[in-house]
Amino acid sequence: MKNSDFHKFFVDELKDLYWAENALLKDLPKMQAAATSEELAKGFEKHAEETKQHISRLEKVFESLGEKAEGVKCEAMEGILKEGRSIIEDTAKDTMIRDAGLVLAAQKVEHYEIATYGTLKVFASHMGHREAERLLAETLDNEKATNGYLTGLAERFINAKAVAE
Ligand code: FE
Ligand code: FE
Repeated sequence: MKNSDFHKFFVDELKDLYWAENALLKDLPKMQAAATSEELAKGFEKHAEETKQHISRLEKVFESLGEKAEGVKCEAMEGILKEGRSIIEDTAKDTMIRDAGLVLAAQKVEHYEIATYGTLKVFASHMGHREAERLLAETLDNEKATNGYLTGLAERFINAKAVAE
């Protein structure tokens, strides 16, 4: 099992995800600083703390598999984060359009993470890696909750205020 091509592929994808989470952790403070509303800034602050947990959970996943935790550049996350930075450049400070843009950027991140954790959790399940499956499912739930929180903020006031600007 451990030397199977599928197992190796699974571990490679975990390394990609590990890089992605670490890259996100570096960008979240920029998103927090750029946010107009206190609620969105708080959301980014909270998710940075949660992202630290995602990283340590992935380290436990590697450990449970007897593999070294290491990151391999994730081109997709790099692109999504780059887009987030350009949204900040393209929107004015202290506007709700800025926040609407930041929600868009952050939801792209969360959807990417949801897709990745969801699939890797199923891979772990099929390979009988129970501990890895449990850890990946835990983070998956948190990514879904974060996405829901962002939708809530957008629907509650961000989009309406952006339209009125
Ligand atoms: Fe995450
Ligand atoms: Fe996330």
